[in-house]
Formats: sequence, structure tokens, C-alpha cells
Amino acid sequence: MTHADALVLFGITGDLAKKKLFPALYELTRKGRIDDMPIIGVARSDWSVDQLRDRARESLPEGVPDVVERLCSQLRYVRGDYTGAETFAKLSAELEGYDTPVSYLAIPPSLFDDVVSGMAAAGMNDRGRVVVEKPFGRDLASARELNNILHRHLREEQIFRIDHFLGKEPVQNLMVFRFANTLLEPVWNRHYIDNVRITLAESFGVDGRGGFYEGVGAVRDVVQNHLLQMVALLAMEPPSSADPAALRDEKVKVFKAMKAVDPAKVVRGQFTGYLDEEGVEPDSDTETYAAMSLEIESWRWAGVPFCIRTGKAMAETVTEAVVQFKTPPRLLFSEHDETPRPNELRFRMKPDDTITMTLQAKQPGTDMISRAVDLAVDYERALGGDGPEAYERLLNDALLGDPRLFARQDGVEEAWRVIEPVLANPQPVIPYAPGSWGPDAADAIVPGEHCWDAAQLSRRSN
Ligand code: NDP
Repeated sequence: MTHADALVLFGITGDLAKKKLFPALYELTRKGRIDDMPIIGVARSDWSVDQLRDRARESLPEGVPDVVERLCSQLRYVRGDYTGAETFAKLSAELEGYDTPVSYLAIPPSLFDDVVSGMAAAGMNDRGRVVVEKPFGRDLASARELNNILHRHLREEQIFRIDHFLGKEPVQNLMVFRFANTLLEPVWNRHYIDNVRITLAESFGVDGRGGFYEGVGAVRDVVQNHLLQMVALLAMEPPSSADPAALRDEKVKVFKAMKAVDPAKVVRGQFTGYLDEEGVEPDSDTETYAAMSLEIESWRWAGVPFCIRTGKAMAETVTEAVVQFKTPPRLLFSEHDETPRPNELRFRMKPDDTITMTLQAKQPGTDMISRAVDLAVDYERALGGDGPEAYERLLNDALLGDPRLFARQDGVEEAWRVIEPVLANPQPVIPYAPGSWGPDAADAIVPGEHCWDAAQLSRRSN
């Protein structure tokens, strides 16, 4: 893998650059990872390079001035429309003498074609890499079309599809926890695990972005990408080597073994008040909540439901995966007719990064009664320090040429295949109150007597 020697940022005047990319570049500058590398912004605004530097300063209000100025000194600006050949001629001249430029497309996907064709016509695509922002399509057909557009001018190994969720420290931790702890492997299968439940809940609504959210909905926004990626990390086989292809191959195998979701078994919800948001159709049936159960037809997982749910305007902001083991038999040494609760392993990624294993222990006293106790690790307390922010890590990986945390074409298309029926035949949305846990109908998604979250049930019964 060859380290990049130049970075091109299409969309440098946009929102993503301001909120995420400048802060990521700042951190990389602070750590000395992009010393002397030209950062060439390309956009339509009639800005001078000094105006671009002001934008960088504005985006980094808490930055150490020396570091901000170092970053600013590396900025250059090419003004131009992506539909014009002269834009790419100017860019090509700026890149003269650089062998491995990385071009980041922080632009809407509708512009990808113009940009990659423009780059190709200027002879820029035979070297370097291209990072593309999500969304990777709206469904299987549009994802294929987008991939075809990219493949007309680029080889798959040059394309780095960014899903910032995969760059998060706790998500990476899932992988280490699974494959660096021998004790898990023998029980990590259908013989010991009853079900897996994943929640990605946000306590806020659409935050004034109704116009954007209306055309997307929860399934496209987070299920097809973030939640399916989490399922893949929990369910995949150990990669056969450290080779980047090995990890991505294993994730794709999980998607391939997944049945397409039965739309009749999906619960879609919409929080009350969504219809009053600006940019939302008065009769919109866009879901702000979705819950479903996924089936993986493999020797390891057949019969173990992976239940996933996500929602906006929920009771809490929380991202977690709970692996629930099978219920043990009745306590035969107890005089009470007691069946202990099953063990659980809880990976909480937001708001805190913790792993909790729930075990059973004897309740002190004369009776033989078991009680649940938690063995919990708070990563920050135990290991200290934060890892890099997701965009910083992923941008660094793209510059290094490490594709492990980026989505590959086959994985993206398989994930769309799995959820395609939900998009093609959506169930009507069920209203739910903001601040709740979504429609009650979703309780039926979790099998048997289990529930999404024990804490949630106890709150309900209080
Ligand atoms: P913006 O609309 O804020 O920015 C778009 C950028 O593209 C601007 O720099 C704009 O330049 C440039 N541009 C648009 N059309 C042209 C053109 N014809 N010629 C030249 N430049 C053009 O978008 P965002 O930054 O919000 O989003 C970019 C991508 O990132 C999208 O794919 C989005 O889905 C994704 N994304 C965004 C997130 C966010 O928080 N914003 C989060 C996750 C993903 P100018 O303004 O100078 O005309």
C-alpha cells in the first residue's frame, strides 16, 4: 500500500467538510501524519484560497493556532463546476508530479458521475484512490447503477466507500473482543446463543433536516448500512489472515447467508409530530423507526434471530448489542422452583463504551436463590484515552491505502438485497409517542419471553 502524496477534497465548501473533514484533517496535522501534503479543495464557490483558509479556521474554533495555521498553509483551491472539463484541467495541473493522490468525494452521489468522468477525461484515474460518501444507492438497482458508474472509470480496489460507523472505536472493539478472547469462540453459536438484539436509538428527532430525511427513512439511513455491519461483525467467522480482503470476505459471507427480510415481519413506526417538520409531506409514510429480525442460514447461526431496531425521538440515545445466551435449566439444588435468568453479554457503544456480562450468583442468605450480577468493563476507565474520531481514522486509512474499514461493492449490494423487500412492500407506519421506545408491536419481533431490553421492561411496569 502506497501512502498518498496529495489529497483532493471535492465539496470542500460544503457542510460535511466543515463539520467532519476539517476537524479530521486538524487531528492528522497535529499528529504529523500529513506533513507537507497539499490539500486541494475543488468546489463551485467563487472563493480565494484565503477565504478557504478562513473557512478552515472557522471550522476549528478550539484548534491550537499553530496547528491550524500549519493545516491552512497546505490548502489550495480549484474553483470550478464539476460539469466543466476546465475544472479537471486545472486540478490536473495542480497534481502534476504527485503519484498517489486521494480524491475525497464529499458531494451528493448525483455528482459522482460528473466527477469521476471528468477525472478520467483528464487522465487522473489511472493512479491514486477515490473515497466516496454514503449513501451508496437507495435500493439494490440504484446501488448497482452507482457501482457501474464508478467502475466505468475506476478499479474496485481504488474505491473506498466510507461508512463512518465502521471507524468508531467501540465498533472496532467488537472485533477485538470476539477474536482475541478464546473463551468466547466455543459458545459463539446456535448451541449456546438464543438471540442477538441490536438497538440504535436516538432521543432527538430529525433536527430540522426533515427535507433530507423524508426521502430516506430509518431503513435506508441506518439499517442497510450501520446495523447490518454490526450484525456482520458479530456473526462473521474469524478472518483467515490479516489481509484486508479476508475481513471483508467474511462480512460478505454473512450477508450472503442472510435471507431477504419478510416485510410482514417488519415493524415500521413514525413519531407523532414528524408530519409537522419542515420539508415533510403532510401524508408522509417515511419511517422514523424500524424493527426486524434477520435470519442467517449458516451452520453457526441457523435458528438464532438477530433482532435489530432503530428509531428517532426515542426514550434515550443508545447504541448497543446484546447477545443473549440460552436459558439454563431449573436450579435443581434450590428448594424454590426457580429458573435462573440467561446470561447476557452487552456491548454498549453509546453513550458510554462498556461491555457487561450478566451472570448468575447466589443471593446471600439461607435460601438457594440465584440473582443476576454484572461484570462490567468501562473502556475509558480501564484503558484510558479516546481513540481517534471516526472520520480521522478513516481518512488516515484512505491515505494509507488500507481498505479494511471501507465497504466493498459486493457487501453493499448484498445488504441492499437483504432489505429490498422492506422497501418494495413497506408495512404501514405505526405512530409512536416521542420519548417512548417505539411501537409496542415491535415487542413481538423478539422471540419467546425475551424482550428488547430488561431495563426498558422494568421501566414500563413501574
Ligand atoms: P453540501 O450540499 O453541503 O455540499 C456540497 C458540495 O458540493 C459543496 O462544496 C458544493 O460547492 C459542491 N458542489 C455541488 N455541486 C457542484 C457542482 N456542480 N460543481 C462544483 N461543486 C459543486 O453537502 P454535504 O457536505 O452535506 O454532503 C456531502 C456528501 O456527504 C453527501 O453525499 C452526503 O450524503 C454525505 N454526508 C453528509 C453528512 C453531513 O453531515 N453533512 C453526513 C454523512 C454523509 P459550492 O457550495 O461551492 O457550490
